[in-house]
Amino acid sequence: MDLYKVLEVSKEASQDEIRRSYRRLAREYHPDANPGDKKAEDRFKEIQHAYEILSKPEKRREYDEGPRTFFGSGGAGQRQQGTDFGDFSDLLGGFGNLGDVFGRTATTNQRTRTKGENITVNVRLSFKDALNGVTTRVGVPVEEACGECRGTGAAPGTAPRTCPDCGGRGMQSRDQGFFALSTPCSRCGGEGRIIEKPCSVCGGDGRVRRSRQVKVRIPAGARDKMKVRIPGRGNAGREGGPAGDLYVRTLVEEHPVFKRRGDDFVVGVPVSFVEAALGAEIQVPRPGGGTVRVRLPAGTQDGKQFKVRGAGAPKAKSDGEEKGNLIVRVSVVVPKKLKRREREILEALAEERDEDVREDLFKKMGSS
Ligand SMILES: [Zn+2]
Ligand SMILES: [Zn+2]
Repeated sequence: MDLYKVLEVSKEASQDEIRRSYRRLAREYHPDANPGDKKAEDRFKEIQHAYEILSKPEKRREYDEGPRTFFGSGGAGQRQQGTDFGDFSDLLGGFGNLGDVFGRTATTNQRTRTKGENITVNVRLSFKDALNGVTTRVGVPVEEACGECRGTGAAPGTAPRTCPDCGGRGMQSRDQGFFALSTPCSRCGGEGRIIEKPCSVCGGDGRVRRSRQVKVRIPAGARDKMKVRIPGRGNAGREGGPAGDLYVRTLVEEHPVFKRRGDDFVVGVPVSFVEAALGAEIQVPRPGGGTVRVRLPAGTQDGKQFKVRGAGAPKAKSDGEEKGNLIVRVSVVVPKKLKRREREILEALAEERDEDVREDLFKKMGSS
């Protein structure tokens, strides 16, 4: 089940679009509007479940990153056929969440001051920029308070008024057998207030979507998928609430040679079998440019790792003052072709050593 499909919005939908779509669907499939319609009821539960997750930026992000977390937990919309009592009371319990549909809890009388939603945008970084740090600009699609109506949604010179039908609650209660069911107010559509002349710029929403350029400083040593928080640069709040935050998520280009491991870099370095056997001093490239010397002892084995302290990535949190390490992992290269003279030398070596490197292996077989 794709929660975005359930709410009939795209994956890129703003929190506002999600809220609007939810309201529309919740009204359409509300059990009270579809008495005895099991399909509508299931659909309603799915819608609520999807909204519970997608309406909360934090949960939505988790869902986007790993949707599996949200399944298999017996969530809404996964129930069996046939309504039993438990099912129904669960449905009633679900109405509590309806407060969310209308942007407030059922007990408050007005639209509350709400903080704007946080926004996450990605920024692509070259390996070098991530390593050294960079100040860059990102385009942020953001909901800003409408300048025309100052965020009220009402045309200049007019003001929204409290809905007379529901007294601003956005809900109407109706007795139905044992239960009192609440339904969204049909007059104000659950808003609790009525805008007689909507602002022509924002269409009554109070916010407008803009693309804003935001300057962001990426610290040296930034890792892939790291988030840099810029407070107050997210969506505008409602009713004078504070703006949300902006999170800039780094997408760091992969390097063909250096692989990041925490604050360390790992580099695979080929060494000849002669270097490995005799020992050698080799030059190894550094992530930031230039080289570093690494001393291989005689008898270095394939896969052996050497640590060059402080030659890794700057630790982003320390503002570049502390650094990780460079891990040099050697792989022993065996020549694919030998000249006649080389062959003779190796044959002479074999004769000299007269060794059996598999002796241990067979010993172990024999003892088992
Ligand atoms: Zn406006
Ligand atoms: Zn109303």
